[in-house]
Amino acid sequence: MKVTLSGFNMEVHENPVRTPEVLTAAYARVSRSEKTLAQLREVARANVEKARKSNESIVYDMGHASIAEHAFFNIDIEDVSRLALEELEKHRLASYTEKSQRYVKLDSDWHLPAEWVNNNQELTQLHSEAVALYKDLLSAGVAAEDARYYLPLVVTGQVGLSCNARSAEHMILRLAASPFAEARQLAGLLFGVLKPVVPSLIRYVEPSAWIRREEAAGWTLLATEETRLEENVSFLGQAVGRLDLCSPVDDWDALVLAHQAVRAGAPYAAALAGARQLSAQGRSEAFARITEGMSVHDPAPRPWEHVSLTWEWVLSAAAYAQLKRHRLAGITPAAYDPHLGFTHPAAAATDGFAARARDLVALSEATASRVEGPASVYALLSGHRRRLTWTANLRETLHFSRLREDAHAQWDIRAFAGAVSAIVREHAPHCGRIFGGKDAFAGKTLS
Ligand SMILES: Cc1cc2nc3c(=O)[nH]c(=O)nc-3n(C[C@H](O)[C@H](O)[C@H](O)COP(=O)(O)OP(=O)(O)OC[C@H]3O[C@@H](n4cnc5c(N)ncnc54)[C@H](O)[C@@H]3O)c2cc1C
Repeated sequence: MKVTLSGFNMEVHENPVRTPEVLTAAYARVSRSEKTLAQLREVARANVEKARKSNESIVYDMGHASIAEHAFFNIDIEDVSRLALEELEKHRLASYTEKSQRYVKLDSDWHLPAEWVNNNQELTQLHSEAVALYKDLLSAGVAAEDARYYLPLVVTGQVGLSCNARSAEHMILRLAASPFAEARQLAGLLFGVLKPVVPSLIRYVEPSAWIRREEAAGWTLLATEETRLEENVSFLGQAVGRLDLCSPVDDWDALVLAHQAVRAGAPYAAALAGARQLSAQGRSEAFARITEGMSVHDPAPRPWEHVSLTWEWVLSAAAYAQLKRHRLAGITPAAYDPHLGFTHPAAAATDGFAARARDLVALSEATASRVEGPASVYALLSGHRRRLTWTANLRETLHFSRLREDAHAQWDIRAFAGAVSAIVREHAPHCGRIFGGKDAFAGKTLS
């Protein structure tokens, strides 16, 4: 595992001490000082130690924590398993760009977790059989994005991470509480590269007992499915999991219209009553007015954010890797669970490979059972599934649909995005009209 601090923000000035703390110290004092920002920076620059003390007292003692958000880093993270990258990327207030699994050098790029040292041979055996199947699938013309469903979660990747000091401190704290030794090691490396640069902004990194319990919670399965899952989402006839709407159905079109009316000055209760009673023709006209001139790059209007929907998903690790990148949604995942089935890509489910793929899945599950506790999931594959709840407002759900229903999207997440849109359209036909991939938007209006 390797963590490199590849960049951080500095003021545009020759500065003997290379740290963004000069900027944060100046911004921290702007609200109560008669000095200009340039003067405050000059003061901070002249005495960085004093600036650091000022940061600490304003950020930590006064609780003015957003000051730390003005310090920003670019961090290269390499040789970290898929599983630990998930732990990292669940932190939402950050930017990630990850190397696609299509470009991983499979023979060498995998992580032996500390929890597996006594079962090293079984994991090595699983990994080499998985890589052999992966390579044979590629040779048979199966795309890498499909063949990777048979790679275990120990396969490593790399990610460019950009975030501010407040997020970084939070990440270190949560990773330090992870049940996975690898994630705890990542916390230590992040702390090691950031603390010397911003000592006043990375301070609380010792997890409480509560945070340790929270971090472990999603990885301890108490309830698992007794019977095979009844799948309701599919791609080319191949089942990819299950999606259910958890929120009670309401007249979501009317709710959106009501918030739109508030924007024009109407009281909410009267606006909602009026919207609920609006004729079909009146609704069509109202939605046509709202979206007149909208292009595929325009977001849904703000009033859409007041309709928030919760869904239950059962999806593959490959699809989850994409879903988790939508940072404005709330996700509560459970651990990967073999009882939930396996997503076999249609392209790999041919006579020549189906039996071998099933054997590998069985080997993976048998291998996983050799280790107790959360780290057993390292031996599961990208096609294994987990259950989660997902809450997103209608504005973010539209954004998700545009990206993930588009022709460029990967088929697994695309099948789910299509299922989400179909349910939105069923209950909110006016809002739902502009759901769909970017490629399907041309000429659509909400009328
Ligand atoms: C076809 C396709 C291929 C992809 N390939 C890769 C790949 O190879 N590697 C990879 O790492 N990722 C890949 N992604 C993921 C992609 O880069 C995005 O991370 C993902 O689609 C989430 O969407 P989003 O960034 O628009 O934001 P969301 O997190 O869904 O947020 C919604 C909106 O909020 C705003 N927003 C949220 N956070 C911020 C922020 N920090 N700063 C500014 N605005 C913000 C933006 O307007 C954003 O559009 C791919 C996505 C697609 C659709």
